[in-house]
Amino acid sequence: MNALSDLQATLDPSRKSWVESANDSTHDFSIQNLPFGVFSDKTNHAHRVGVAIGDEIVDLAVLQAAGLLNVSSKTDVFARDTLNDFISLGREAWRSVRIQLSSLLARDNATLRDDAALRSKALVRQSDAQLHLPVQIPGYTDFYSSKEHATNVGSMFRDPKNALLPNWSEMPIGYNGRASSVVVSGTPVQRPNGQLKLPDQERPVFGACRKLDIELETGFVIGGGNALGEPIACAAAEAHIFGMVLLNDWSARDIQQWEYVPLGPFNAKTFATTISPWIVTLDALEPFRVAQPAQEPQPLAYLRHDGKHAFDISLEVTLRPQTAKQATTITRTNFKHMYWTMAQQLAHHTVSGCNTRVGDLMGSGTISGPTADSCGSLLESTWNGKNPLELKEGGTRTFIEDGDELMLAGWCQGDGYRVGFGTCVGEILPARK
Ligand code: CA
Repeated sequence: MNALSDLQATLDPSRKSWVESANDSTHDFSIQNLPFGVFSDKTNHAHRVGVAIGDEIVDLAVLQAAGLLNVSSKTDVFARDTLNDFISLGREAWRSVRIQLSSLLARDNATLRDDAALRSKALVRQSDAQLHLPVQIPGYTDFYSSKEHATNVGSMFRDPKNALLPNWSEMPIGYNGRASSVVVSGTPVQRPNGQLKLPDQERPVFGACRKLDIELETGFVIGGGNALGEPIACAAAEAHIFGMVLLNDWSARDIQQWEYVPLGPFNAKTFATTISPWIVTLDALEPFRVAQPAQEPQPLAYLRHDGKHAFDISLEVTLRPQTAKQATTITRTNFKHMYWTMAQQLAHHTVSGCNTRVGDLMGSGTISGPTADSCGSLLESTWNGKNPLELKEGGTRTFIEDGDELMLAGWCQGDGYRVGFGTCVGEILPARK
């Protein structure tokens, strides 16, 4: 077998694992998925690299030490508190580890399956583990690439007839976000304070955000950067992407509305961005590749790529008030609706010569679908608070209240298996007094 057919075999829908929980057709972490993360547990507080399989985590540092995982590096890249060293090895190394793990975890492979002593060291139950921020993130950029989202926001705040500004259809619009406040799922988020401009007052007041919102997004993690002055071509861009996460770009709409002219969002976005702990590789997403929406006008040459560059990823958001048992689903949508692709975003980001680095995080922009129940933000689904959402156990929401828990989920449904992202959760704490 050559490397390509080995890689194909990792995507075989009929492949099953001896980790039985992975074989449930609606479990996020099938043997076809194998997402990477960083974890610790009660008995071993050291942060190390793991891969999710069913309800378990495979400790890659243990496998490497046992000689079951060959990696093209002289140094240990898995007994680390981030994935950056492993990611730096490049796509061939990521693929090689994926192929080796898929084989080791396959039902008919006895090597680890029948080695009880090693298995007890190498497998950690997810319920016993704590997940950490998977990468050290040198830079975070957020795009604005959903036509439906940009149209909704443009209609609300400018002019429904000219909702999209002329530049929007020519390039993936983005802004440089704040890497320091990216947190892993489960980290509580404090409601921000800031300047609020009330409509009936001439000057702003200082206080707690009253229009706290989510933005349902995905993010991609740079696996191979580019040197300063050397752009990444659109056709080559996907080779620079290690994988994807779910991303919640928490947004303070009232702070944003007052501050965003002329240089875009600042404090409205910098207080927190939550990502899911598992990075799903582009190799795992390959079977879910679909055509992106038609682009009119045709983009400039540097933004063109042949073939399919969108991915069919189902997404949903739920909201659970602190006092409620049940969460209410507030949106269902799909990543495939995005107008600009990740490859186009990366090509545009670097066309000026801007360099990117291993671990850089690029947000997709809010992912809204074509219908009212597929909006990726409360700003849109409640139309800036005019149409409150009904909650399952009573009550309504326009924007997020203290104690609310917001959860993003995402998955690709294959034939008998799922490639899922897990969840991306954050609970809102009251503002600092
Ligand atoms: Ca955003």
